[in-house]
Amino acid sequence: MKFPRLPITDDHIHLDPVNGRGVDAAKDFLNAGGTHIFLVSKPSWSLDVHLTSGKDYARVFDETLRVAGMAAETGLVVFPVLGVHPAEISRLAEHMPLEKAVDVMKGGLDCAAQYVQEGRAVALKSGRPHYEATPEVLNASNEVLAHALTLAADCQCALQIHAETGPCQDIAEMAKAAGVPIGRVVKHYGSPDTTLHPSLIAKHEAIPDLVRAHRPFTMESDYMDENSRPGAVIGPKSVPRITRKLLESGQITEEDCFWIHAETVGRVYGVTITLP
Ligand SMILES: [Zn+2]
Repeated sequence: MKFPRLPITDDHIHLDPVNGRGVDAAKDFLNAGGTHIFLVSKPSWSLDVHLTSGKDYARVFDETLRVAGMAAETGLVVFPVLGVHPAEISRLAEHMPLEKAVDVMKGGLDCAAQYVQEGRAVALKSGRPHYEATPEVLNASNEVLAHALTLAADCQCALQIHAETGPCQDIAEMAKAAGVPIGRVVKHYGSPDTTLHPSLIAKHEAIPDLVRAHRPFTMESDYMDENSRPGAVIGPKSVPRITRKLLESGQITEEDCFWIHAETVGRVYGVTITLP
């Protein structure tokens, strides 16, 4: 198959050579016409990393960077995104006091920020439970999220957040207070009703309308790469496949494709997207 040379970026994907398909999934993305990925660190539990302090996250992040190196060998451009999954709080709180869990998660984010400062990752990841949680857990999670925003301000990097569905207006206020431009706070699995930057699941039906309205967004698969959860979310080819479908059906133009996959991505994450 031959495609016109276009940038196609998945801004939230996981690759797991231990529990999933790893590089083969990256090749699927590449062969479907994909060019750039934002490779997001997996939750510590999926790598069987037992956490007792924030420093323990280094093992999780080193694994993400190892996989990023493997994926880059296929010819993809890979941007690592490191952080702490918001659901870690519920797991940690099962065997330590909530305040200690907050410390561990903040420490993990400090560790991730160190990697960003060293130029080994381009963005951070945080959030708060997207499932039902007690007010104590929600407060504690907001404290972790506020810390992540402070680090994003220090590193002048983007922050991907995983949170409940909806606008998350209070997070826009928190970002403002921390000094992070809201256009650099990326709402993972987002919806157009947020003032944060929405990263839309590739099949989101609002995409053609948003393009016409020139409302910035990015596209993601949130592919988990876990063999035990085959149909979970959508596959690694989804961003290139759906982008191509939108192009072929005339719903977006090649120029729109550059705007979504290169210009917008570049502005949000502070990276340069060029064709290899
Ligand atoms: Zn994810």
